[in-house]
Amino acid sequence: KSGFVSIIGRPNVGKSTFMNKVLGQKIAIMSDKPQTTRNKIQGVHTTETSQMIFIDTPGIHKPKHQLGEHMMKVARNTLRETEAILFLINVSEEIGRGDEYIIEMLRNTSTPIILVLNKIDLVHPDKLIQQIEVYKDKLPFSDIVPISALQGNNVDKLLEVLETYL
Ligand code: GDP
Ligand code: MG
Repeated sequence: KSGFVSIIGRPNVGKSTFMNKVLGQKIAIMSDKPQTTRNKIQGVHTTETSQMIFIDTPGIHKPKHQLGEHMMKVARNTLRETEAILFLINVSEEIGRGDEYIIEMLRNTSTPIILVLNKIDLVHPDKLIQQIEVYKDKLPFSDIVPISALQGNNVDKLLEVLETYL
């Protein structure tokens, strides 16, 4: 099984940390400089049974700047052409404008969206449940997976879930 996976989320939710955890030290990943290429391959994760190619979705998390129509189209095409979308949020912070912006971008996308609640190491389980309640009515998520990208908690489980969409 193999396929492409888009990763989106506003700045500082832990996208790079997650990629580092998944890809290990094998790949010199990513600066956070503005993208010059349209879509950046962040890395490839290979197991005995699967290969996942992770793709960054540039420009999608910039609510302050109006995206050009072209960039918007590129972002939408990326989302449509991948097998799954990982939407990362920081579970230790309240939902904000950056998150809402992405949710609107994702509305009407037919690609399966997996909501990844990152930084669970920072919150009480009650807070986690509360956040799931907040998000689950916003979009029809295919799956909701809590993780700690920093500590590695549940990252394997997320990869297992992801594999089912390839
Ligand atoms: P990005 O902007 O989405 O790529 O976010 P980064 O991966 O750069 O992470 C932003 C900050 O959040 C860094 O200081 C990370 O160490 C921290 N961080 C990322 N994941 C976690 C997590 O699961 N738990 C905690 N406590 N911190 C995290
Ligand atoms: Mg980053």
